[in-house]
Amino acid sequence: MALLGCHVSVAGGLWRAVERGEALGCEAIQIFTKNQLQWRAAPLPLHVCERFFRARRESAIDSVVAHASYLINIAAPDAVWEKSIVALKDELDRCDQLGIDDLVLHPGSHRGEGRDRGLARAVTALKEVFSVTEGQGTRVLLETMSGQGDGLGADLDDLERLIEGCDGDRRLGLCLDTCHLFASGLDLRRADGYRRLVDSMERRFGLDRVGCWHLNDSKEPKGSGKDRHSHLGEGELGLLPFSLIIADERWASTPCILETPKEKDGDQKNMALLRKMRGR
Ligand SMILES: [Zn+2]
Ligand SMILES: [Zn+2]
Repeated sequence: MALLGCHVSVAGGLWRAVERGEALGCEAIQIFTKNQLQWRAAPLPLHVCERFFRARRESAIDSVVAHASYLINIAAPDAVWEKSIVALKDELDRCDQLGIDDLVLHPGSHRGEGRDRGLARAVTALKEVFSVTEGQGTRVLLETMSGQGDGLGADLDDLERLIEGCDGDRRLGLCLDTCHLFASGLDLRRADGYRRLVDSMERRFGLDRVGCWHLNDSKEPKGSGKDRHSHLGEGELGLLPFSLIIADERWASTPCILETPKEKDGDQKNMALLRKMRGR
C-alpha cells in the first residue's frame, strides 16, 4: 500500500539519489534533475543517464518522480513566462532521457494580474510545451498549493480549469500535498475531511490523475495560506491523515513522498513512522 519515499539530493551525481533513497528504505524517490535554483543546466550526458538507469535497475526503488525548478512560473505576466516555457520543455526532455514518468510542477503565480489571466497564460504555456514534446510520455503533475501570495492552485477549481483548458490532456496529472491542502483550508485532520477530499478528487478529476502525494505536516494552522512543512506528527495536522493515506488501497501504487525538513535523522524517523503505520 502506497510507495513510501523521500525527496533526496542528487549531489555528486543523479545516481547518488537512488543510493540515498535505498539507504533510507524508499520505495519511491523524488529528485530535481538539475539545480532547482538555476534556469540553465548543461545537457545530460549519456553516461550519466546510463549510470542512473543502472542504479535504478539494481535498486528496490519502484518509482522516481522529478520536481521542476522553483523558478518556473508558467502563469507569469512578464518575460519569465517565455523563460518558463523553455525551462519546462527542458525539464520534460530530461525526464524523458532518464525514464521518469512524472514531473511535479507548481501551477505558478499571476503576480497581480488576476487569476483568470494567470490561468489563461498557464494553459497557453502547457499547450505549447506539450506540442513541442509530442510523443514523450512524462506527465506534468500540477501540485496543490497553499495559497501564498498570488499563487494559483490553492483551489481545486484552478486545477480543474487548467486541465479543462488543456482539453483534458492525458499528460496532465495532479500532485496532492497534505501541508498545502491544509494551509489552503481543507481539513484533513479528521477521517471525514480526508474522505470528502478524495471523493471530490474522484468526481472532478478521476483518481488516475493523481500521480503523487507529498506527505508533509504543517507548521501553520488550517487556512493560513502559509507553506511551512514540519515533521509528521509535529505540526498542526497530526498523524491521522498520513495513516489514512497509506492505508488507502486506492494509492497502492502511488508515490507518497516526504518533503519534511532536512535535519539530522528526520527522514529516517519519518520513514520509520510511516512503515510502522503501514505495518511493514
Ligand atoms: Zn512542490
Ligand atoms: Zn510546500
